[in-house]
Amino acid sequence: MENCIFCKIIAGEIPSPRVYEDDKMIIINDIEPKAKLHYLCIPKTHFALLSEMGEREAEVLKYCFEKIASLEETLGLQEGYRVIINQGENGGQTVRHLHIHLLGGEVLGGF
Ligand code: 5GP
Ligand code: ZN
Repeated sequence: MENCIFCKIIAGEIPSPRVYEDDKMIIINDIEPKAKLHYLCIPKTHFALLSEMGEREAEVLKYCFEKIASLEETLGLQEGYRVIINQGENGGQTVRHLHIHLLGGEVLGGF
């Protein structure tokens, strides 16, 4: 997808070290961490919103959540973490390529 920063990162056009990568998704460190550990899990399929999800996107998201769970220790998240998917303007979504925030490495404040 043109002009999508996450598609560019996935394609390697913008260098960004991978914490994890496979054929369906990448995990990178957020450039502006909001917690001691702040990862972004980014599906390689471009779609912006949960409301745009079809079969393929749903499969990819299911895969991402299963993979995240299997990587908890590797990521240092075994004591617990927060999962956030911002949606649209009111949700504070700034990059319109769906991504899963993983925050942890410390006790997080409540909402
Ligand atoms: P959103 O606000 O859309 O839910 O989250 C976008 C996130 O992407 C923000 O937390 C922001 O810090 C992060 N981000 C934006 N541009 C880059 C980048 O070029 N590299 C990395 N690693 N993170 C980015
Ligand atoms: Zn994209």
